[in-house]
Amino acid sequence: ITGGIGSGKTTTCKLFELMGIPVYYADDRAKWLMQHDDKLVTQLRSAFGDQVYNAEGQLDRAYLAGIVFNDRSQLNILNGIVHPAVRADGITWDQEHTATPYTLREAALLYESGIYQLLDKIITVTAPEALRVERVMERDGVDEAAVRARIDKQWPEEKKVDLADFVVHNDGQKSLIRQVYNIHQQLIQLAS
Ligand code: ATP
Repeated sequence: ITGGIGSGKTTTCKLFELMGIPVYYADDRAKWLMQHDDKLVTQLRSAFGDQVYNAEGQLDRAYLAGIVFNDRSQLNILNGIVHPAVRADGITWDQEHTATPYTLREAALLYESGIYQLLDKIITVTAPEALRVERVMERDGVDEAAVRARIDKQWPEEKKVDLADFVVHNDGQKSLIRQVYNIHQQLIQLAS
């Protein structure tokens, strides 16, 4: 399950969770692993320097973002370290969640990272860009330029909609609950 920043991926996933479907939140999990997975911590320190972690051992996200945000080669190095760790963690998670007809993986960059190739079906959550910007500004307390800079790093929403098997329109008009319920029913059918 994917979608641009602020499209409502997490909100949509919470509804699937209410119906008993486990969700692997890949972006949150990546952040957790960067802090707690010893092997990953060592790799990040050796690639980007000890300053990546502060004196208390907390990951300095702003510092790391400063290194990779406008430098494709540094970003590739970071992804080359983090993606395999998340992939391995996701495989372990899958093995621990086999009791439901299907499970979900939430990631903002599902297509951009190539992870979509490992999945059976893709759900794209979409919302008008102005609404996404407004929602993220309110949620994160950031200005419009900061949100748009992040949007510019992602694939255009239309491309994700075109490639998806299911689309959730989170435009504040169509019922999100009804859309999620319909997809849930179809996925159960497919899994049976
Ligand atoms: P990100 O890519 O930044 O993780 P996301 O796609 O997971 O974002 P959410 O965090 O689910 O998006 O939603 C962004 C914000 O918009 C949240 O504060 C959420 O509560 C709000 N929001 C999402 N959907 C709706 C909706 N249908 N009505 C009102 N608010 C909504």
